[in-house]
Amino acid sequence: MAAAAVDAAATFTMPKRVLMGPGPSDVHPRVLAAMAQPTIGHLDPVFVALMDTIKQQLRRVFRTQNELTMPVSGPGSVGMEVCFVNLLEPGDTVIVCENGVFGGRMKQVAQRYGAKVVVVNDPWGRAVDPAKVKAALEAHPEAKALAFVHAETSTGALSDAETLARIAREHGVMTIVDAVTSLAGVPLEVDGWQLDAVYSGTQKCLSAPPGLSPVTFSARALDVAKQRKTPVQSWFMDVNLITGYWSGGTKRAYHHTAPVNALYGLHEALRMIEEEGLENVWARHRRVHLQLVAGLEAMGLKMLVPADERIPELNAVMIPEGVDDEAALRSRLLNEFGLEIGAGLGEFAGKVWRIGLMGQSCTERHVQLCLDALKVVLKR
Ligand SMILES: *Cc1c(COP(=O)(O)O)cnc(C)c1O
Repeated sequence: MAAAAVDAAATFTMPKRVLMGPGPSDVHPRVLAAMAQPTIGHLDPVFVALMDTIKQQLRRVFRTQNELTMPVSGPGSVGMEVCFVNLLEPGDTVIVCENGVFGGRMKQVAQRYGAKVVVVNDPWGRAVDPAKVKAALEAHPEAKALAFVHAETSTGALSDAETLARIAREHGVMTIVDAVTSLAGVPLEVDGWQLDAVYSGTQKCLSAPPGLSPVTFSARALDVAKQRKTPVQSWFMDVNLITGYWSGGTKRAYHHTAPVNALYGLHEALRMIEEEGLENVWARHRRVHLQLVAGLEAMGLKMLVPADERIPELNAVMIPEGVDDEAALRSRLLNEFGLEIGAGLGEFAGKVWRIGLMGQSCTERHVQLCLDALKVVLKR
């Protein structure tokens, strides 16, 4: 059912929603209030000081000392492109693990930049198999990087980033890691696991609005970007230029105009994570996820992903037999309960629902609302 047209002459008023899809997640009023402050100049010394603080906050949430750690202006997909376009030159070989939509997007991005892509396929709904990665690295000694998705939001599968990164290191290749949904949802140790180029997004477990992509590069990755033989194909995403703005000390060079108010919001969202404690945030995601799964299973529903490969923040549940029009049920959840859950993607379209428990949307109250609402719409 389509919504009524929005009147251009009237103030747009949002309906009340509870966000339990694959992102964005609920944004705390504190973050919204921070963003409602007046816009200041993006080179104002006060704003530059805020940028420095945000870089420090991001280092803590990524668990890294990497100098190049910053929020790129753009959604998670831009962070993905930043990693590929800076680290790969045309003709370079990259091994991309594909076990869902976002591994597939990585493959397309790498191909567009002229890389030779070797795909390691795993079934959707399962983790990346380290043995297959090892075999691919042995078959392709020319590979420059290994790319994989830590938490596949399209299916809810968690891959073992620590093991995959160790295998990559043993073969002398860099890692490009999608941590869009894993950051602040499950343990992620950029330095501890020696990951090279990692990107995330603000609208998943960080619970800030969409539009920024935290990115971090190891010293090695930054070196590779600096020593390229060919220029980075993108002017906007060239880290050699972006860092002049984000890391220029007091002498920042204008590169582009950062989304000032979005960064006020990110600062507040990261502050809330630090107030709670990052490890407590991880534990909350795990605890609330187990409550949701117990409730769904008590209703006779089945999860897609095996228990030991699940991410807590995205729960793919099989749509029960007898539901002919699952989209109509999601519309009812939205219209009658103000509750958004996600549809299945790709081969799971029409077969699963994706229930997000990300950041501020990861509470017992959310679980209760979701279970109650599902019981009502599944009854009729
Ligand atoms: C959401 C998501 C992205 C893309 O982020 P956008 O902000 O939508 O561009 C990439 N990878 C994963 C794993 C995601 O969940």
